Amino acid sequence: MEINGRTRICGLLGYPVAHTLSPLIHNTLAEELGQNLVYVPFPVKPDKIGEAVKGACALDIAGLNVTVPHKSAVLPWLKEIDPLAEKVGAVNTLVRCPGGYRGYNTDLTGLQRAMESDGIDLKGEKVILLGAGGAARAAAFLCAHAGVSEVWLLNRTSERARQLAEEVSTGFGRSCIHALTLAEYRQIPAGSYLAIQGTSVGLYPDTEAAVICEAGLYEKIHTGYDLIYRPFDTRFMQLVREQGGRAYNGLKMLAYQAIEAYELWNGIKVSRETAERIIQKLKEETKTDE
Ligand code: NAP
Repeated sequence: MEINGRTRICGLLGYPVAHTLSPLIHNTLAEELGQNLVYVPFPVKPDKIGEAVKGACALDIAGLNVTVPHKSAVLPWLKEIDPLAEKVGAVNTLVRCPGGYRGYNTDLTGLQRAMESDGIDLKGEKVILLGAGGAARAAAFLCAHAGVSEVWLLNRTSERARQLAEEVSTGFGRSCIHALTLAEYRQIPAGSYLAIQGTSVGLYPDTEAAVICEAGLYEKIHTGYDLIYRPFDTRFMQLVREQGGRAYNGLKMLAYQAIEAYELWNGIKVSRETAERIIQKLKEETKTDE
């Protein structure tokens, strides 16, 4: 593409940012949609996030993504925050507004759109959520937002699971989340569940690992959604399929959180066909490093 006097700049604030796939997604979108926009990663050290936001505003950077370790630390530096992102207590997308930026959480809405595109409707579902870190946090708030009937939240560190369950319950004024340790999974009542895998266990290169391996868990799962996308087919997904369930990975979540951000920055809607081309490109890119 030609960079000229009208080129708009978007970017990523994170630390580190060297392995991000976001430039691939956003620059492909700009190219496909014929927009004069470039997306660049900015490595921003933890104590520099406030200065980075002020600097971006002064430079009139059109939009930003925010990743680890800044997703919550950036909140005091925002002019406005979307009410749903405020509940989550974390943002991953900043959109220009008068005098600064408005924060959004497209990890949540991107996961929702990814699931919808796979024919998954969370409303009324019984959910098992594995993990209580950043990715699981977005999934936990999405479950409450989308009206699931109950969530069994399992994490290695019980205090973290309890804390997240409490925050979601407070945020939505209903206590639909039960916190357990991983070892307590047998306490989950009999039934048919959607399971969301939000831990980092099984991530490349440790591809033979799953956070729980016992068939007793997987017998309860009709659909397994792993937020990991490297490898493309995780051990968790294989265990789900071995017990007759359907299984998906996190590649679509990655694509749709970016697409939602791109839409917010540009005031447009990305078509399903363009989204599919982005997902295909990500598939090829992530396959090469396995
Ligand atoms: P994080 O905040 O560091 O959380 C890691 C989670 O994994 C915690 O719940 C942690 O439990 C658990 N865990 C780590 N090692 C474990 C072990 N050996 N045994 C049991 N549990 C273990 O990481 P994150 O940002 O949430 O990322 C988690 C995964 O989601 C990563 O694999 C990442 O690739 C994926 N992700 C995908 C997307 C997407 O767009 N698809 C976006 C973000 C992240 P403790 O609390 O006990 O430490």
